Amino acid sequence: MKCRKCKKPAVLKMPRHNTAFCDVCFQDYLLKQVQKAISDGKMFLKEAPILVAVSGGKDSLALWDILIKLGYETVGLHLNLGIGAYSATSQQMVEKFAQTRNLRLITHGYQESYGLGVVEIAKASARPACSACGTMKRHHFNRIAIEEGFPVVATGHNLDDEAARLLGNLLKWQVPYLEKQSPVLSDDNGKWAKKVKPLYRLPEREMAAYAILNRIDYIVEECPMSNGAKAFTYKETLNRLEEASPGAKHQFYLGFLKQKEKSFPSPPPVTDADACLTCGQPCQSEQCGYCRLIERSTSLIVS
Ligand code: SF4
Repeated sequence: MKCRKCKKPAVLKMPRHNTAFCDVCFQDYLLKQVQKAISDGKMFLKEAPILVAVSGGKDSLALWDILIKLGYETVGLHLNLGIGAYSATSQQMVEKFAQTRNLRLITHGYQESYGLGVVEIAKASARPACSACGTMKRHHFNRIAIEEGFPVVATGHNLDDEAARLLGNLLKWQVPYLEKQSPVLSDDNGKWAKKVKPLYRLPEREMAAYAILNRIDYIVEECPMSNGAKAFTYKETLNRLEEASPGAKHQFYLGFLKQKEKSFPSPPPVTDADACLTCGQPCQSEQCGYCRLIERSTSLIVS
């Protein structure tokens, strides 16, 4: 098997493009895909530093690596969720990545802040762990970005993540979520940190190949709370579709983004009236999901 571009031996077959690439041409292709996502979505420019949310997994560490190669100024942000050995190893991976490249890393630990990990907080407030986890991540990404003066937070969500989320939203006809689903979530004229997903054009398989080719050390184990999570079922279903019809995930998600503007009215802009009265972050009622979650868990939280 030869590289389609330079005819050297290929390292990766890419059925969705009916092609194969050598190491150098694959990485060139991948970086161009990320730059295209950033430029098409007007995600950010080289003038301002970007906060990169890094979990310790392959996607977020690869994203950090790619943004540096593309010439962006970056700072990493790691949330230690307090899930036993999984969180300890995840943090070690992120710290190792930052130290070996001399990069600035901001860390925030739930055990240190609340005396509890995300699983205990979820239990105390009778919420599924992943739902509480998502609420807390959104809050802290936004809070830390604003406190530290970063206009943009970039996350490592890839094409598989976004296609699985879309499938879940469609199966339940979650129209408000469909309306909001996008690789770019507005900063509402600088009131909030803009959230962007520069890897949305790239499937998990290609991100894994990039991480391996660049010898990025990442946590291979999945979060123990992911067992039985619906997102994984949706991903498996989409993988079967992709196998039968290469390019299906790309057509599904990018086709959705194309149709979205025609099919859904623009979401209303966030205003001051949509700010949580307790913490000031965006929300649709008087108190945001994060503050409600923390209040319900108060009896167990030590500080
Ligand atoms: Fe959080 Fe659930 Fe993901 Fe674990 S699997 S990191 S608990 S969202």
